[in-house]
Amino acid sequence: MTIDARHPLPGTRPLVVGAARSGLAAARLLRAHGLAVRVCDARAAAERPEAARDLEALGAETRWGRDDPALLEGRDFVVWSPGIPVAHPTAAAARAAGLPLLSELELGFLAAHAPLVCVTGTNGKSTTTDLVGAILRAAGREVEVCGNIGRALCDVAESVGPTGLLVVEVSSFQLETVDRLKPFVATWLNLTSDHLDRHHDFETYGALKQKLFARQGEGDYAVRNADDPEVVRRRAGAATPLAFSRRGPVDEGAWLEAGEIALAWRGGTERVLPSRELRLRGPHNLANALAALATTLPLEVAPELLRRTLRSYAGLEHRLELVAVVEGVQFVNDSKATNVGSLEVALASFDDPVVLIAGGRDKGQDFAPLLETVRRRTRLVVLIGEGAERITTAWPGVPVRRAATLAEAVDLGFDAARAQVAAGGRVVLLSPGCASFDMFSDFEDRGRRFKAEVTRLQTKEAHT
Ligand code: ADP
Repeated sequence: MTIDARHPLPGTRPLVVGAARSGLAAARLLRAHGLAVRVCDARAAAERPEAARDLEALGAETRWGRDDPALLEGRDFVVWSPGIPVAHPTAAAARAAGLPLLSELELGFLAAHAPLVCVTGTNGKSTTTDLVGAILRAAGREVEVCGNIGRALCDVAESVGPTGLLVVEVSSFQLETVDRLKPFVATWLNLTSDHLDRHHDFETYGALKQKLFARQGEGDYAVRNADDPEVVRRRAGAATPLAFSRRGPVDEGAWLEAGEIALAWRGGTERVLPSRELRLRGPHNLANALAALATTLPLEVAPELLRRTLRSYAGLEHRLELVAVVEGVQFVNDSKATNVGSLEVALASFDDPVVLIAGGRDKGQDFAPLLETVRRRTRLVVLIGEGAERITTAWPGVPVRRAATLAEAVDLGFDAARAQVAAGGRVVLLSPGCASFDMFSDFEDRGRRFKAEVTRLQTKEAHT
């Protein structure tokens, strides 16, 4: 069985392990090619009624409530979902039996007609991937932005023609089970400690990110962050190297110098625009913008289009998103900040101290290293959720209020910021630095509820 002649599939009878977003997309693609697909999921069909209906309509064989190695019987390859650790007995049994184990990402690559532009890193993936998509769309290219962001690669892989581009956000989980993936452009944003509960140690995590570059060759491009020593010290393979830096010039790529964003490509250099004209806020987003520019260099987008896109691109929902200004107070939703690192970059993104709303499910992180930043960059911290107690202890001397609900936190924050508008206290920032699951279904739910509370304040203001 082939998906196309260049990229034959390893068999005709796959087992798809996991029936969530990726697994379902893989099953749809495989069924569209007429393969005899079996899908399993540890959850019962009653817990996933929609998935059960979809898979039945596809004519896939389903095994609900199990994911054990006996399901490999009669199968000749396995598609593994990124949400399931590969230390699983069924993955081990598949490997022991010599069955190829593919991620949904790899399967999507095998099916794709268009070249892949892949973005990975610990932080900034979604923003950079989306911005790359925006730049290429502005340049009139046929583009799908997919992967961890938007739709799964397998859902869009075959809908983009060979002259288009698939811009894919890639996580380390998907890279655990790739072998043939060969992106046209692969971009590595940064590498800091994360997901060590799954990958065990930092070296393993770094080695997984490197797999994105392993199969690249002549005609491909590897874009790396020249400011991140953990990225620089790892080999990027045989692709043409490109780089980005906030600190100064690179041989080929994008950098910041004296407040100006510059590009070097094929011997020429070009000033694009002053970084203050970027609509995105914060030094981390400047890095993301430089990364996006370096990533699109091989696609030769006209500088005027780059300028226009960078001036207008406002970023994604829940990432330093300006919600509204009420009585001179700006409300900023950064609900996606679910760890200490992203809280830190959020605080570095404002000139004046902010009123910070933080807290949530405590993942055992150490908040103490943020103490100095919090002292300097906040006027008041309003804490919500389970982590409030530990955060209070980690930040002695910081003015802290506790709120039982997000509504109460927004009211407290508004009152404090309003009282200080004249002194520059203009921002109420929701940047929790914690997971959301203690009070919300996910970070998006938390962000939407924050925005609803801001709307409530606006309505109140309109009526007074
Ligand atoms: P990802 O998809 O990798 O999680 P996002 O673009 O969704 O990245 O951003 C997630 C959070 O990480 C944001 O709230 C922001 O605070 C932080 N962040 C974004 N870009 C960077 C970066 N380049 N370096 C460090 N932190 C970043």
